Amino acid sequence: MKKVYNIAVDGPAGAGKSTIARSVAEKLNFVYVDTGAMYRAMALHFLRNGIPADDEAAISRLTGEVDVTISYENGMQQVILNGENVSGLIRSSEVSAMASAASVYMPVREKLVELQKNLALKENVIMDGRDIGTCVLPDADLKIYLTASSRVRAQRRYEELTAKGEDWNLEDIEKDIIERDNRDMNRENSPLKQAEDAILLDSSSMTIPEVVDRILELFHEKKMEGGSLWK
Ligand code: C5P
Repeated sequence: MKKVYNIAVDGPAGAGKSTIARSVAEKLNFVYVDTGAMYRAMALHFLRNGIPADDEAAISRLTGEVDVTISYENGMQQVILNGENVSGLIRSSEVSAMASAASVYMPVREKLVELQKNLALKENVIMDGRDIGTCVLPDADLKIYLTASSRVRAQRRYEELTAKGEDWNLEDIEKDIIERDNRDMNRENSPLKQAEDAILLDSSSMTIPEVVDRILELFHEKKMEGGSLWK
């Protein structure tokens, strides 16, 4: 059977995972899988149904009924919720907060992890999230833990939002990021942490192209080490 390559990228909110993983995917001709978008689509469904974030029973029940899949349009991942393309509706702070709150529940995680594992079986993928190296793809060929200081991450998000004409305060964004990190790192199920065999990259003082090049370099090194298994 042809070897399929998997690259796992984990890290806290705003570390640049999706921009970087998308660029690496383009350069390697891999499929980019944004797992956060799947948690966000589920979150949108819970919000639309008026479910409070702490109602574990209702969230578990709705998880059983909801259908989340992904597809690609011009190489861009689209997330489909019960047949509706919701990619443009999942980036609000309300959805971020619900995704972070609902992703602590095991039924939500189990459903999405199964979908993610199946995607990686068939294709060369670079997948980003919080538990990819530790849980979804424990045998990934390369694992990256990408981080940056909370101030730098907040600053990047602030610039992104201001460019879109939104009026935000840097301190509020940093507070939000720290809160989300705390929840993601301290939850019982699949907390965000660096896998033992992951390589730590701190992007605080690196540009996006520098991080992308470093990942490509690491991937090619791993490939050389792999010998005949990698042919
Ligand atoms: O990466 P993104 O910010 O889009 O993810 C939204 C939320 O979904 C995260 O704060 C996290 O709580 C959850 N998530 C997760 N596991 C993943 C990806 C995202 O728990 N693999």
